[in-house]
Amino acid sequence: MQRTAETSLEKLARDAEFIAHSPVLKLYLQDPQAANKARAEDALLTLSALRKDYEQTRYIDQDGREQIRVDRAHTNGESSLRTQGLQDKSSRPYVQAGLQLAAGKVFISDFDLNVEFNRIEIPYKPVLRTVVPVVLDQRRKGMIVLNSFAGELLAQLQATLPENEGEVVIMSESGGWISGSPDLNWQYLIQPAARLSVQDSELWSGITARRNGQFEHGGECYHFVWFQAANSSIQAAKWLFAEKTKNQSCSASLVSAIESAVRRIALILLVSVPILLLWHRSRLRNEYYKQELEDKQAALSTIAKEAGHALIMVDSRCQVQWMNAEAQRLLGWSEADLIGKSLHDSVHLTPEGTPVHPGQCATLQSLATGEPQSKEHDRMLSRSGELLHLSTRVTPFGGADRRQAIVSLVDIASHVALEESLTIQAEIDELTQTLNRRAILQHLQAALSNSAPASCILALDIDFFKSVNDKYGHLVGDEILIHFCRTIETMLRKNDLLGRIGGEEFIIVAHTGSMADAMGLAERVRTVVANTPYARGADPSIAMTVSIGVAQPRPDETVKELLARADEALYRAKDSGRNRVVSAD
Ligand code: GH3
Ligand code: MG
Ligand code: MG
Repeated sequence: MQRTAETSLEKLARDAEFIAHSPVLKLYLQDPQAANKARAEDALLTLSALRKDYEQTRYIDQDGREQIRVDRAHTNGESSLRTQGLQDKSSRPYVQAGLQLAAGKVFISDFDLNVEFNRIEIPYKPVLRTVVPVVLDQRRKGMIVLNSFAGELLAQLQATLPENEGEVVIMSESGGWISGSPDLNWQYLIQPAARLSVQDSELWSGITARRNGQFEHGGECYHFVWFQAANSSIQAAKWLFAEKTKNQSCSASLVSAIESAVRRIALILLVSVPILLLWHRSRLRNEYYKQELEDKQAALSTIAKEAGHALIMVDSRCQVQWMNAEAQRLLGWSEADLIGKSLHDSVHLTPEGTPVHPGQCATLQSLATGEPQSKEHDRMLSRSGELLHLSTRVTPFGGADRRQAIVSLVDIASHVALEESLTIQAEIDELTQTLNRRAILQHLQAALSNSAPASCILALDIDFFKSVNDKYGHLVGDEILIHFCRTIETMLRKNDLLGRIGGEEFIIVAHTGSMADAMGLAERVRTVVANTPYARGADPSIAMTVSIGVAQPRPDETVKELLARADEALYRAKDSGRNRVVSAD
């Protein structure tokens, strides 16, 4: 009860201080023009609207005159600004107290009835007045006065008691009391004879001599304690808070107190024993579940450790939480290297070895969507800097706010190597290691259909190769074919391609849109081949020459048509004596 009373008084004091120190009030006091006054009035209106127990909210000046006043209507409880009939309150005790009050102090009056124009206001409503001085530039300007309904404090104290457990009575130092709800008994405020101090002065002097205790009055027992605000800045009346045990004398109330204590203990036992039993059972059950959970966890972690797959667990930010032994072996990174770091940022790379865009990362996608993701061919950086070829499967788990994922990695290095070798086999001529017929024609087709890079073709045929074979044998013939290709390759630019069409016939797809360029290249090839005989150690070297037909693609020309024109030029080169270059144009 004391605590509640303390809080209530603090609230009153803080509200009054809040207004007394508010900048809008100060602005009005510095410059009392209408607009500033309106703002200050608004502040008081707002406070009144917020606190339904404030009957009046006022600023009273240093002469005791009401300057701003907000009333609460008795009828509908609405707050309204009173602009007419503002009064001189200088004679009222709370104004007198306010005028004496030092800055920083709060005065809270005893219960009182409101007096308007020297008459007690009707309907009667006992109030407490909270007064805080208003000071501007160290000069006292007036005071804020809040009238709060006394029944509110009573109701708050009553609420601290269990229901039907007695009735709260507040007594003033003069022996008068207020009690009751919803109709407030406040008779002493107009009838001094209603005070306990008048009715039974002997009893009253006994009560005032003690801090707390019990007394009997009218056949009923009251347990009481004297109350004074603990906050030293609050000057409040001294009150007695009493709890009246309904219709019981003090001796009966003692018996009933014992009875109720016994009842309480019985009730506690009744409620607590089953709860204890339930608690004990749930503890046993918890122990069992805990053990089962630990066993399951141990089993899972063994499975994960022994699994042939590399497994990595990441949190919602893709940070590595855990990796099994196989993952550490495969990546070369230990748990200590990667734990707490983003798996994606640390190791995820493109085929070119640059970081993968987050939108392409299966792990990030899976964490974002909650859907499993997989990537047949992924690449990660090993600790030794090697680009690893992996297949990735990501399985998310957990709710959206704390989603995690297991990343399962399979080493596909051998598949990739096999695939690469198959691709190479499919495209490369086994003897000369240049592009084979299929591949060079595909490239030529691509060059023709691709609008951007222009190309010319050179059709090459070694002169009198049959006689080389006849003279030196097929094996030497093979070596000369290889020698011929290596010689030509030294003259090609980065995007030029050499392919074997068959036997001793080749094609160069030259990366140039200019016929003059292509003719220049052909002429250089012809010269270098003629000047680079095949050397055979101590044996005499074998010279060779080549004939070349050059053609530039015409708009919408097919590969077949272009090749036919280049071949035709090549035959003309043969016809005109070999070891020469002829243009198809
Ligand atoms: P020309 O100047 O008119 O081109 O005369 P040529 O003898 O070069 O032409 P021909 O087409 O009559 O003969 C081509 C020879 O190339 C026939 C064949 O024995 C030889 N040849 C084709 N493929 C290979 C090969 O893979 N290895 C070897 N050693 N010889 C090959
Ligand atoms: Mg030939
Ligand atoms: Mg030939």
